[in-house]
Amino acid sequence: MKLAARVGEVTPSITLEIAAKAKAMKAEGIEVYSFSAGEPDFDTPEHIKAAAKKALDEGKTKYGAAAGEPALRSAIAQKLKTDNNLDYQAENIIVTNGGKHSLFNLMLALIEVGDEVIIPAPYWLSYPEMVKLASGTPVIVNTANTGYKITPEQLNLAITPKTKLLVLNSPSNPTGVVYTPSEIEAIAEVVVRRNILVVSDEIYEKIIYDEAKHISIASLGKEIGDRTFISSGFAKAYSMTGWRVGYLAGSTEIIKAVSTIQGHSTSNVCTFAQYGAISALQSSQDCVEQMRQAFIERRKVMLHRLNDIPELTCAKPDGAFYMFVNISKTGLTSLEFCKQLLATQQVAAIPGVAFGADDHVRLSYATDMTSIEKGMDRLDKFVSSLR
Ligand code: PLP
Repeated sequence: MKLAARVGEVTPSITLEIAAKAKAMKAEGIEVYSFSAGEPDFDTPEHIKAAAKKALDEGKTKYGAAAGEPALRSAIAQKLKTDNNLDYQAENIIVTNGGKHSLFNLMLALIEVGDEVIIPAPYWLSYPEMVKLASGTPVIVNTANTGYKITPEQLNLAITPKTKLLVLNSPSNPTGVVYTPSEIEAIAEVVVRRNILVVSDEIYEKIIYDEAKHISIASLGKEIGDRTFISSGFAKAYSMTGWRVGYLAGSTEIIKAVSTIQGHSTSNVCTFAQYGAISALQSSQDCVEQMRQAFIERRKVMLHRLNDIPELTCAKPDGAFYMFVNISKTGLTSLEFCKQLLATQQVAAIPGVAFGADDHVRLSYATDMTSIEKGMDRLDKFVSSLR
């Protein structure tokens, strides 16, 4: 069978592959400590589940509008006003099957053959693949020497007449960096001056620590607001990864285009799941804070343990729930490191090569404290064995 060429151009998700391998080992009864998952280990809060159950009982089981339940679109617009100081109406929002789907649909709606999309590396591994699936060209800008943040100068240099879009992700997966308000302002200035568009992936905005502050680039005035698309979702803040509810916010023009794509592909997001999402936004946010507090504790312990291993270095992340660990002193590639770690110590981590940084591995601390302690013991043992 001859597959379409576009399939050959994309790489399967290494994250999902390693997480699946660790799960399969667990199913065989092997004790595995997994730092691979990109999802909180907590259950979805009870009140959110109750709202979805109620929706089911009330017969919210039919097709809905492709762009989402009107009540959810309005609730998201309200959230963007309250949290992010953004003036969107319901018609500026489309509900999607997770943040991944909103980004994918956006690429399909915007990108044509020859269009360049600037992606700062390290990046969330799906960005370049989505650009390729949309027939565009990812332009990777290495930020290893600039604190994992693209600078205005780097952005300016990377822009060509073919540049259409910049992908901004703060807080970042995998590095955990959060751009400061003045850094965001400086990026916005280049975006406006050079007349490109920006998609701001804000899915980790609620998982932020210490002095770090999240601001949405779209909130910095009309000129940048008109060029920005916001992608987000409920997966990380509310531990709703399996629910598949995300959203895209932007001009009515782009939302209409994405609605058309969605209308002929996935149609609406699971109707009763959307009622859970409404409850997530309209109920107390204490659950978000409780999870954040747990991440703060885990971050402290994991960072402390990592910094005790001389061959490894890791900066303190300001957001999300990942440690991005430099392994260059071990002499292994990130794939070798992760494969050997899983095989010899049954600890799962994600190779940095998947994020465009082969001298790093990503460890998720969205897991319980005992697993962090035990997994770190084993990581320590593994690195010692390389000496
Ligand atoms: N963006 C980033 C940076 C992510 O890390 C993820 C998930 O890992 C997503 C988007 C997509 O999230 P979801 O599709 O589960 O809402």
